[in-house]
Amino acid sequence: MIRKVLVANRGEIAIRIFHTLREMEIQSVAVYMDADAAALHTTSADERRRVSSYLDASAIVQAAKDAQADAIHPGYGFLSEATSLSSACEAAGLIFIGPKTETIQVMGDKLESKRLMELTGVPVVPLWNDEPPDTEYPVLVKAVGGGGGRGMRLVERPDQLAGAKASASREAAKAFADDRVFVEKYIQNPRHIEFQILGDAHGHVIHVFERECSIQRRHQKIIEETPSAAMTPALRKTMGDAAVRAAQAAGYRGAGTVEFALDPAGRFYFLEMNTRLQVEHPITEMVTGLDLVREQIRIAEGKVLSWAQADLRQIGHAIECRIYAEVPEQQFRPSTGEIVVYEPPTGPGVRVDSGVCAGTKVGIDYDPMLAKLIVWANSRKDAIDRMKTALREFAILGVENNIEFLRRVISSADYATGSIDTHFIERHPDVLRDSSVTVPAVVLLAASLGGPTLNGASAQLQEVWRSGSWRNT
Ligand code: ADP
Ligand code: ADP
Ligand code: MG
Repeated sequence: MIRKVLVANRGEIAIRIFHTLREMEIQSVAVYMDADAAALHTTSADERRRVSSYLDASAIVQAAKDAQADAIHPGYGFLSEATSLSSACEAAGLIFIGPKTETIQVMGDKLESKRLMELTGVPVVPLWNDEPPDTEYPVLVKAVGGGGGRGMRLVERPDQLAGAKASASREAAKAFADDRVFVEKYIQNPRHIEFQILGDAHGHVIHVFERECSIQRRHQKIIEETPSAAMTPALRKTMGDAAVRAAQAAGYRGAGTVEFALDPAGRFYFLEMNTRLQVEHPITEMVTGLDLVREQIRIAEGKVLSWAQADLRQIGHAIECRIYAEVPEQQFRPSTGEIVVYEPPTGPGVRVDSGVCAGTKVGIDYDPMLAKLIVWANSRKDAIDRMKTALREFAILGVENNIEFLRRVISSADYATGSIDTHFIERHPDVLRDSSVTVPAVVLLAASLGGPTLNGASAQLQEVWRSGSWRNT
């Protein structure tokens, strides 16, 4: 039995994991660096431990030992896919809430994992270790240890290959301490379809259906949904079975995700496996009723999976929008500042996983994701309408963000018909037009007066703010 868990992460994912720990009556321990001493995640746990770096596996393990925790949950990002944390846990006699170190090692290597998939009969994107034939262009240069969309270069012509490899290799060395790159066939106009996997320590593996994550910028997802509009029951079965085979081949234990590119002809190719909880996991929770963090903990305790494949159902439709501190209209440049107003939407079928609140200072040291807005409804159309409304009601002031941009994407005609692929944003430059005028004037005024307290504002304005009627503008 796990009684106390240290969460080796910050922001919304740490807070989301603390929720499940509380429900399971498991004690929680946060870690924080000096700049995060007053951060929301630091104050949301039962206990907190200061660390010199979120990336120092031995310091994290020492903090867990000092707190007498039994287990470490890595969240996503940081050390979640580093064998340094899982192996340090093993050495210290702590439970790592994730797969075995060997699995992380194989699946974290885009070449090794593809070799394993080929052996298993799961289709992979064709790749070359050196020069592809001229007829295969365009191609994609990728980092062997890549993640988060980094270390990737599209190459249109053979004479551009050497330069692209050199620059991808430099980026990969800096980001992943591994400069190896390889060349992959570039799939034209693919959709990103991934399958959620759960495997227990007793050899059972199931999938918890697909997530479509085709709306991306810089090869990173910004809007995800499930079910995918591209899916048929037959394709779901074929791809789901392939994902289960992939996980079985890796001896998978815990929650993981098998990512595929689906081309317009309906052929699918293994891209990679992420050996951790995914940012977009809540949409799977909304349509299945599972709590994936609870499942991760049960599996780490050695329990048998709670569900067989045939017990699982997708009910209704869920969409997630990632709320980033960035300016889409200016090449998605990150923005910084202090959040003055933070008013997330509420209502039926609305879930907000936040890492920030009013007063949070957003800097450049971490991923610029502030929160995730997730909605559920009976149908895809209703979920889109609910998302549009929830985005309109989401007020964040003090830091520029992508809310209006997300609203334009969700409101577009092609999104409504499900005509999406990974190039959606390039093909719809209209979603990038400047939007600063659409923020309700009263909200801007409130911010300029110092936030929701509205000290000194007219009685009429205070009334507008308190009643929330600005949401109707
Ligand atoms: P997901 O694959 O779950 O959709 P993202 O690609 O958005 O997630 O990455 C989630 C977080 O993890 C981000 O903070 C991202 O920068 C980070 N990240 C993802 N992969 C890696 C990696 N291999 N190394 C370091 N950070 C990573
Ligand atoms: P990361 O580890 O950074 O998440 P992935 O291999 O999962 O890298 O790729 C991230 C995204 O890049 C995919 O979702 C897709 O949009 C695009 N991509 C990756 N490989 C290909 C490919 N071979 N052809 C076309 N697009 C690709
Ligand atoms: Mg990926």
